[in-house]
Amino acid sequence: MANVAEYFGENVFGEAEMKARLSKTAYEALHRTIEEGTEELSPAVAAEIAEAMKNWAVERGVTHYTHWFQPLTGTTAEKHDSFISAPDSEGHIMMEFSGKELIKGETDGSSFPSGGLRATFEARGYTTWDCTSPAFIKPSSAGPVLCIPTAFCSYTGEALDKKTPLLRSMEAINTQALRILRLFGNTTSKKVMPSVGAEQEYFLIDRSKYLQREDLIFTGRTLFGAKPPKGQELDDHYFGKIRERIGAFMKDVDEDLWRMGVSSKTEHNEVAPAQHELAPIYAVANVAADHNQLIMETLKRIAKRHNLRCLLHEKPFAGVNGSGKHNNWSLVTDDGINMLNPGKAPHTNTQFMLILACIIEAVDIHADLLRESAADAGNDLRLGADEAPPAIISIFLGSQLEDVVEQYIARGNATSSITGTVFKSGVSTLPDFVKDATDRNRTSPFAFTGNKFEFRAVGSNDSISEANVVMNAMVAESFCRAADELENVDNFDEAVQEYIAKVLREHRRIIFNGDGYSEEWIEEAARRGLPNRPTMVDAIPALTSESTEKLFEKFGIFTSTELKSRAEIAYEGYAKAVNIEANTMVEMASKDIIPAVIRYTTALAKSINEVRSASTAVDVSVQEELLSEVSANLRAARSAVVVLRDEAEKARCIADAKERATAFRDNVIPAMKALRTPVDTMEMLVDKRYWPMPTYGDLLFEV
Ligand code: ADP
Ligand code: MG
Repeated sequence: MANVAEYFGENVFGEAEMKARLSKTAYEALHRTIEEGTEELSPAVAAEIAEAMKNWAVERGVTHYTHWFQPLTGTTAEKHDSFISAPDSEGHIMMEFSGKELIKGETDGSSFPSGGLRATFEARGYTTWDCTSPAFIKPSSAGPVLCIPTAFCSYTGEALDKKTPLLRSMEAINTQALRILRLFGNTTSKKVMPSVGAEQEYFLIDRSKYLQREDLIFTGRTLFGAKPPKGQELDDHYFGKIRERIGAFMKDVDEDLWRMGVSSKTEHNEVAPAQHELAPIYAVANVAADHNQLIMETLKRIAKRHNLRCLLHEKPFAGVNGSGKHNNWSLVTDDGINMLNPGKAPHTNTQFMLILACIIEAVDIHADLLRESAADAGNDLRLGADEAPPAIISIFLGSQLEDVVEQYIARGNATSSITGTVFKSGVSTLPDFVKDATDRNRTSPFAFTGNKFEFRAVGSNDSISEANVVMNAMVAESFCRAADELENVDNFDEAVQEYIAKVLREHRRIIFNGDGYSEEWIEEAARRGLPNRPTMVDAIPALTSESTEKLFEKFGIFTSTELKSRAEIAYEGYAKAVNIEANTMVEMASKDIIPAVIRYTTALAKSINEVRSASTAVDVSVQEELLSEVSANLRAARSAVVVLRDEAEKARCIADAKERATAFRDNVIPAMKALRTPVDTMEMLVDKRYWPMPTYGDLLFEV
C-alpha cells in the first residue's frame, strides 16, 4: 500500500491542483475569494475553474458531479448529473462542465423541509458553490462522484440548509473578533476563523443481526431489549484492545477519509461495549462540518463492506452509554494565533481574559439557545442520563482559570496563576513532567480544555452546524458589545480590566466546576436561575425567543421568518421521529413478539398436559408458574399495544406542530415505555429459541 503522505488528499481539488491547473489570474482571483471573502468570482474565472475541475475529475474516472448540500433533514443531499453533452450530428458526446453549473444548481426547494417557507407552487431552490470548502471525489457504488460543497437557499434567499447560516455566522465572528484583536494593538491579522474538531462516537454491530431487528432498521435504535448479564460495569472496553474485525474496518475508514482529505487522527474503543470513536484534526468550521458529514457517511459505507452496521443514533441501547459528538471550538487568525490560548500565566494575558469573559457572558445569555442547538429526539435519551452532560448548560473552566476569574470578581484584576505541579510516578525509570494546570471534568457540557472550548452535548447523528452557528453568533455578539464599549476609551488598560471584572461578576452563575451528573447540581442550577430543558420540545422555544431573534438579526444570520420555520421543522421532526418509533413498536409487538410468546406458551401448555398424562406423580408446577407469569405479561403487552396504537393515532391527528410534538412526548413516549416493560420481562422468561430477534447480549458482545 502507498505511503499515506502520498495519497492523503488525492481526491481533493485543493490548493496544489488549482495552482497547477489554473491560470495565474484565475488562481489569484479564487484565492482572494477564499482568503479575504470580499469578492465574488467572475463568470470567466468560474468557467476556467469548472473546466479544470472537470478535467481533473475525468482523469480520475469520474463521470458525474453533484452539488452536495445539507438540507434540514440532518443528512446530506445530492443529485448526480453526468458531464456528457448532447450528442452532435455524428452521435459523439463531450464531457462538459460550465462555470454556471459549478456555481449554481437548481433543485426543488419544496421537497426538503422548509417549515412553511416553501410551498409547492413556489418551489424553486438554489444550491451555490461554497468555494471555501474544496470539491472532492467520493467513492460510491455508482462509481466515483465529484462533490461540490454547496449552500442551499430558496428562490427568495431564505436559507434552507445548515451551511448558509454557518457561513453567515463565520463572517460575523470574523468581523467582531478582529475588532477585539485591534483593541490590543494587533494590526497584522487579516482574518479570524472558528476552528472546529468534532469527535465522533458510534456503535458497530454485526450486519446480519441488525437485519433481524426492525427497530434498528427503521429507527436506528433498539426499542425493546432486556439488560444483558454483562454491561459496561467492568469498564473494560474504554481504550481496550481493538478487535481484528473492527481494526480492519477502521483501517479502511481511515484510508477513504485520508484520500478525501479528511484528517482522521484518533480512533479508540469507547466506554460502552461495541462503541468506538473517531476524531479528526481540527479545521475551519464549515470544512469541519462538511468533513463530519463525510465521516458519518464513510463509517456507514465501510461498515457494510465488513458485514457490520454502524449505528449513529444517540442511544441505540437502553442502559448502555449513548453516543455524542464533542465539538471542540477555538478562534484562530490567518497568521496562526489561537485566540483561546491562555499562555502559561493567564492572569497576565488580558486579551485572553477579555475573550474568556465574553464567551462566559455569551453562554450565560444564550444557554437556552446553545442547548437547543444540540436538541434532537434521540439526544433526549442521553442528555442528563448520567453519561452525558446534563440538559443544563454550564461552563467548566478548571482550577487555574477559575482561580483567575475569582481574583477578578473579588478585586477587579488578577495577580497570579496557579501553575502545573510536577507529576511524580514514584518509579525512577519513568520520566517526571509538569502536569497540565487543570484536570478534566467529563460531566460538563461546555468545558475549557487547554486552548479550546469543548461543547459536549451535540448528538452523534446530528450535524455540528447548528452548534457552531450558535457559538459563532453569540460570541460575536459579546465581542461586539465589548468592542463598542472599549474602542474609544481614554485609558484602555484600566477600562478593559474593569470591563472584564464587570462581565465576570454579572455572569459567574454559569461557571460550575463540580459534578454535572449529580442531583445537587440540578437543584443548585435552579437556584442560580439557569435553564434546564430536559427534552427537545422544551428546548425548541429558544429558537424564537426575543434574545435569539435579536442575536441572529443583528448579524444577518437568520431572519425571524427563518427562525420560525426552523422551530416548526424541529417540532415536526420530533413528532415524526417518535411516531416512527411508536409504529415500529406496535408492529414488532403485534407481528413478532406476541406471536412468538403465544407459540412458547402453547408449547408450555402442551408440555404440562403431556407430562401430566405420562404420570400424575410428576410435579409440573414449574411449567405452570412459568405459563402463568408469561401469560400475565402477554396480557399486559397486548393491552399496552392497544394503548400505544391509540395514543399515536390521537397525537398524529393534532394539526399544530408544537402541540403534536408535545402529545408525542407526554402521551406516546409513556405508552412506549409501558409496552417495553412487559416485553423485556418476557424476554427474560421465554425460551431463547422462541425469541424472535437477537438480544442485547448478541448485539453488543458478538461483533
Ligand atoms: P482532548 O485530549 O482535549 O480530547 P485532543 O487533542 O484529543 O483533545 O483533541 C480532540 C479534538 O479537538 C480533535 O478533533 C482536535 O483536532 C480538536 N482540537 C484540538 N485543538 C483544537 C483547537 N484549537 N480548536 C478546535 N479544535 C481543536
Ligand atoms: Mg473530548
